Amino acid sequence: MRATDQRVSEGCIFCKIAAGKIPVERIAENEELLAFPDIDPQAPVHVLIIPKKHVTSLKEVSDWGLIGRMHQFAVKVAEQKGIAQSGYRVLINTGLNGVQTVLHLHLHLLGGRVMRWPPG
Ligand code: AMP
Ligand code: ZN
Repeated sequence: MRATDQRVSEGCIFCKIAAGKIPVERIAENEELLAFPDIDPQAPVHVLIIPKKHVTSLKEVSDWGLIGRMHQFAVKVAEQKGIAQSGYRVLINTGLNGVQTVLHLHLHLLGGRVMRWPPG
């Protein structure tokens, strides 16, 4: 395990959500992953998918299978939320220019409207 792959990061809001210390609608979860609504939705459906174990960002991933499992999970949540047919966008903001504001790896699942391209 790398130093950045701690199980829990003190003060990390998404670690607190994963641990149930901050209540959220737990849309879907398994041993490894949790899906919950974004508090500031940018589309009719805006779900965040996180690993329960703290990983700071895409740059700190050591188990690349995790990224595949997060996407597989997003596909299932998209079906659950009824946007599988109409389509959706998944993305991971990383670093300053990517405007990652919460330093706990998360995948955004956005749908329910046509996405703009290029993104802002
Ligand atoms: P990012 O800019 O990719 O780091 O996205 C972080 C996302 O987390 C933003 O879309 C926020 O609206 C969302 N967010 C921050 N705090 C919470 C929270 N307590 N519950 C749900 N979503 C949150
Ligand atoms: Zn965390």
